[in-house]
Amino acid sequence: MAFQLPALSYAFNALEPHIDAQTMETHYSKHHQAYIDNLNKALAGSSAETLPIQEILQAISIYSPAVRNNGGGHYNHSLFWSILSPAPAKEPTGQLKTAIDERWGSLDEVKKALTAEALGRFGSGWAWLLVKFNGQLEIGSTPNQDNPLMDTNTINRGIPVLGLDVWEHAYYLKYQNRRAEYVNAFWNVLDWKAVENRYANAVKK
Ligand code: MN
Repeated sequence: MAFQLPALSYAFNALEPHIDAQTMETHYSKHHQAYIDNLNKALAGSSAETLPIQEILQAISIYSPAVRNNGGGHYNHSLFWSILSPAPAKEPTGQLKTAIDERWGSLDEVKKALTAEALGRFGSGWAWLLVKFNGQLEIGSTPNQDNPLMDTNTINRGIPVLGLDVWEHAYYLKYQNRRAEYVNAFWNVLDWKAVENRYANAVKK
């Protein structure tokens, strides 16, 4: 089974005015699709073709740069679409709220810290909230289409529960060079319920 584009649970224009329809359509139908096509091409005929993407990423050091870039691109964008919503939960509850409060003091503080990661990433990459393999919540950022699952990371390895795409293709049409405005708008469509569900799964493992 080749990798496939996951269905979006909302329309391209559903996240407006925060993320515009044209950006959504191009990002999903062109950029994400291209990562999938190139990943399938890179894995064609190899024994890894049938592995779950998480398993490939956790051992990414044994694969080619094409698998790293496009496998990361597929996983990262699948996560990104799933945590955005036109009707988002504005704050986490339960275990995730407790873990954030213990580590950062408040939701505002972790948002500030994640914003700093997103703005501090030079060039293309991602900002992350992740569960380290010891169960602790952490923030970080990675270049290109890398992510915390990859065994090529030297710091902040773990399971990502929130990912923020700071590639220019994610915001340039609407925000041009104003990454800070885009990051600010992102918080309006981030569904903390989706992050909470990912957190619950991550700490179970
Ligand atoms: Mn992207």
